Amino acid sequence: MTAHVWVKDDGFLFTGIFSKQRAAFLNDGPPSAAARRADLAKLKQALLARQTAIEAAVSKDFGYRAPYETRIMEINPIVQTINYLRRNLTKWMRPERRRVALHFRPGRTKVVYQPLGVIGIISPWNYPVSLALIPLATAIAAGNRAMLKPSEMTPATSELLRSMLRELFPEDQVAVVTGGPEAGAAFARLPFDHLIFTGSTSVGRSVMKEAAGNLVPLTLELGGKSPALIGPDADIEAAATSIAFGKLANAGQTCIAPDYAFVHEKDAAAFVAAFDATARKFYPRGAADRNYTSIINAKHYNRLQKLIDDARHKGAKIIEVSDAGNSDSRKFAPAIVLNVTDDMAIMQEEVFGPALPVMTYRNLDDAIGYVNRKPHPLALYYFGKNSEDQQKILMRTTSGNVTINDTLMHYVQDDLPFGGVGLSGMGAYHGHEGFKSLSHAKGVFQQSRWNFARILHPPFNKTTDMVIRYFQR
Ligand code: NAD
Repeated sequence: MTAHVWVKDDGFLFTGIFSKQRAAFLNDGPPSAAARRADLAKLKQALLARQTAIEAAVSKDFGYRAPYETRIMEINPIVQTINYLRRNLTKWMRPERRRVALHFRPGRTKVVYQPLGVIGIISPWNYPVSLALIPLATAIAAGNRAMLKPSEMTPATSELLRSMLRELFPEDQVAVVTGGPEAGAAFARLPFDHLIFTGSTSVGRSVMKEAAGNLVPLTLELGGKSPALIGPDADIEAAATSIAFGKLANAGQTCIAPDYAFVHEKDAAAFVAAFDATARKFYPRGAADRNYTSIINAKHYNRLQKLIDDARHKGAKIIEVSDAGNSDSRKFAPAIVLNVTDDMAIMQEEVFGPALPVMTYRNLDDAIGYVNRKPHPLALYYFGKNSEDQQKILMRTTSGNVTINDTLMHYVQDDLPFGGVGLSGMGAYHGHEGFKSLSHAKGVFQQSRWNFARILHPPFNKTTDMVIRYFQR
């Protein structure tokens, strides 16, 4: 064990909690399926009982977020995940029989799924409830104990999570610790059995360095620029509606939001008009609209303003869509950004806000080429009817996940793994993959009393030679 780490932020003794969880895990052994299902049910009930308080806490942290948005984008996906985990975990916990090579028969092989032990979870601010509780539910389903470090940018929500989880679980099973980057770094240095980090690619790099000290295996759920490619035969209105939904929900502060769009040059004007009309339909009351979310803090608001100013300065055309912007309440004006070039900051960093750069192409292959010259995105969206084009997109681009003819929706498919690739992350959770990544798949070979392997024991002789040759056929 490493030395105790006393973290200044809130004086919490992280290693003390960690040691308690590890000791309890070793003492109690893996929980039964019934115990895991009961814990998950308890979590779901507590969540639903506190729905209104959660919506209020998130809204307070953001400056404003519509309760329905929190319900649709956070609470319901957690409930759906918990239901799915509860339905499947007994099946997933069963040992799997595997094939045994002829010369090892009648020995038997199986894979046993064993909880890893203590899981660390570091979560971001943009969906502060679901990105903390979905990994936690997955850890519980796989029979683990867990420590959670939510974001310091959402203090009201983090406090609510802490008090809710403290009521539900003993500290040696589930614990919440708080603090900023310094606490995060100390947390990442704990010798967890697995660490799930959700956040930016740059912080992901330091988390990986910290975790390397103990060779802690990681799931890194990072960000990046997720493109929306609109095929030449796409229904432009439907594509604009989906992209506006994906881009403007949570005011674009979504890791899998479509970052920029690529449209055939013949459709550019129609797409801009349809996006504008949809934004106005979604937020008809302009700046007073109670469905449009604020930007988390002044720093991020100013960062977005700088992206727009830099693009404008370098020759981009900014079209404000809808009148939902209001700097007093940090509601950033939704915008389309045309004539973008690679030297603009908006085309280099993840936008993470309600501004959509729109690029045009003549040939779909050029758009594919552009995407492939950039780091692998977390999500990729394709709109179009032609199945050959759909297939080409799937086979010729690499991204964490893909949704065809919509945005965001792969995230809420229970049975799909969710994760990035390359700079957008490593490993996946959700689906069966989530259970597997927080379990140890232990291969077990059970030898039989009579077996061929003994023929190969020394002393070696002619029979050894014959057997070796036989198996080299
Ligand atoms: P962030 O990386 O700044 O912070 C995430 C968490 O890491 C916070 O809890 C923070 O306190 C902690 N942290 C900060 N410095 C640390 C350090 N040195 N060591 C350990 N922990 C540290 O990210 P953010 O601003 O909260 O979230 C936005 C980013 O997250 C975007 O890039 C977005 O795309 C990404 N994201 C990804 C997913 C996904 O599922 N892949 C989901 C949501 C957000």
